Amino acid sequence: MLGDAVTPEVAAAWDEVYWLLACELIAREARLYAGAGVPEGGPVWRDWRVTGRARESADVVSLTLAPADGGAAPGFTPGRYVSVAVDLDGGRGQQIRQYSLSGRPGAGQWRITVKRVRGERGAPDGMVSGHLHDRVTVGDTLRLSPAFGEVDATAGDGPLLLVSAGIGLTPAMAALAHLADRDPGRRVTLAHADRDAEAHALRAELPALQQQLPNLAVHLWYLDAAGADLPGLKAEVSPGLIDPDRIPLPAGVAAHLCGPVAFMNLVRAGLLRRGVPAERIAYEVFGPGMLPG
Ligand SMILES: Cc1cc2nc3c(=O)[nH]c(=O)nc-3n(C[C@H](O)[C@H](O)[C@H](O)COP(=O)(O)OP(=O)(O)OC[C@H]3O[C@@H](n4cnc5c(N)ncnc54)[C@H](O)[C@@H]3O)c2cc1C
Repeated sequence: MLGDAVTPEVAAAWDEVYWLLACELIAREARLYAGAGVPEGGPVWRDWRVTGRARESADVVSLTLAPADGGAAPGFTPGRYVSVAVDLDGGRGQQIRQYSLSGRPGAGQWRITVKRVRGERGAPDGMVSGHLHDRVTVGDTLRLSPAFGEVDATAGDGPLLLVSAGIGLTPAMAALAHLADRDPGRRVTLAHADRDAEAHALRAELPALQQQLPNLAVHLWYLDAAGADLPGLKAEVSPGLIDPDRIPLPAGVAAHLCGPVAFMNLVRAGLLRRGVPAERIAYEVFGPGMLPG
């Protein structure tokens, strides 16, 4: 396409750049595998048995998973996610998607919590989330990668702010369970936005977590706040969209955000405006198409 512009020197330079980049990416991949505990040259994918399945809301299920070979489920840093490979029927082949670990690190099993993605305006329903909802039951086997990710949802040792919307709560739930085990005195604020109390998956776990974490403050925003009371949960519940100006911000707070991109942009801008330094705001993006709700 470039024709005569590609002199032998230009071609040689491109060749060198290509291989430098390739070597860097290969080395980076190797470091990621090593960091995830994969032995050099060892298999990345592992079979996991579905040991439990729980319906968390109309559109959300949790799957509990244990290594099929009877080995122990590795611990993980809250905020990490796994890749799940499924073979779809109808000639759709293998598909791989990422799911944040939503259970307690060190529990001996892993848990993922999956929202069914419904196609909108004529688009097809989500392939893998639909498969996990409709086809996968207790006793089935799933292929999982090790836990990866660079975001620690419990980073630092000062006040922690976990902000989530919809299914973006999964890393926050792992973070709360981890802190309940390891640092129960930590000052934590959970600010979560959802359609309503019924759509708020894993909400039923909050009262027990609040018992274990006496300094956990819960702030909820529901578009429809009717019927939001939950016995045993002390929470400030507000109707409507999240208001970043009303999120409590103790000095030195570190924040972790997870939700639709527009939601995170709004919250991040609010935190920056109120003086939280950018380097103290971590966030996880569930993919460009992450849907609200
Ligand atoms: C790091 C990370 C962590 C994540 N953690 C979680 C988690 O904890 N829980 C969770 O539920 N999800 C999580 N996700 C999202 C998850 O990985 C999937 O993206 C999600 O389940 C949707 O996958 P799917 O196969 O069901 O949808 P897909 O089949 O990939 O479809 C995605 C979207 O594309 C649309 N679409 C597909 N085909 C077409 C077409 N031809 N024309 C127009 N539109 C189309 C669909 O309607 C849908 O809206 C995470 C993602 C990442 C990256």
